[in-house]
Amino acid sequence: MRRKIVAGNWKMNKSFAEAEDLLNELYDALEEQTPSNVDVVVCPPSIYFEMAVDFSETGIISVGAQDVSKYENGAYTGEISAQMLSGMQVEYCIVGHSERRKYHSETDAEIAQKTDVLLKHDITPIVCCGEILSEREKNIHFEVVKKQISDALFHLDPLDFAKIIIAYEPVWAIGTGHTATPEQAQEMHAFIRKTIEEKFGKEIAKKLPILYGGSCNAKNAKDLFSQADVDGGLIGGASLVAQDFVTIANAF
Ligand code: PEP
Repeated sequence: MRRKIVAGNWKMNKSFAEAEDLLNELYDALEEQTPSNVDVVVCPPSIYFEMAVDFSETGIISVGAQDVSKYENGAYTGEISAQMLSGMQVEYCIVGHSERRKYHSETDAEIAQKTDVLLKHDITPIVCCGEILSEREKNIHFEVVKKQISDALFHLDPLDFAKIIIAYEPVWAIGTGHTATPEQAQEMHAFIRKTIEEKFGKEIAKKLPILYGGSCNAKNAKDLFSQADVDGGLIGGASLVAQDFVTIANAF
């Protein structure tokens, strides 16, 4: 059986006091409704890691970062290294989110470098891929996703590849309320798994967790997660409301 994962991407939201309230509410709700066999991950802004890690010591949630520097260390003002994340007990890190691709011109080559530094420091990369609307309309979405994955991840050796998580996030669904249908999600997840099988073999492909992201919420999570190749979600907006996030984590 594959690992199930629900990760909340808080993005650049919440004041210090609001972040503390959300973590408290999350903790209470998760204690009441603890999902079984699901890794629940919270990815707050890095300035809140220490607070989130305190909560993660309860064992109910793990902490993830939203990004990492592609460099090991040095004169890179404003950057946070994988080694620093690891020292803070951050266990996961999102890489290649569409907002970083769009607003920070992040390339697949940089996503490959970030994946490498994370693996070196034993942090699980959650590597995002997904097409924009015009690419889906032109029916080139499979090609686009295959290229993102191959350019960012095909340099890995199979042992390292086996440690990563992929998140399929159609860009047209992120923060728009236009969720992919369960059938659209399943179709792409199955395609991703087949692409991985061709490169890394059946065993590794079978074990790879593939998360869906894009307007996944407390109402539609169950239908999405019931698909054979959907192993959980990367959740933006709905992760900012404790009860919604916990409902999603229990939607398997
Ligand atoms: C995301 O930003 O990764 C995301 C999936 O956002 P939302 O759930 O708000 O669409």
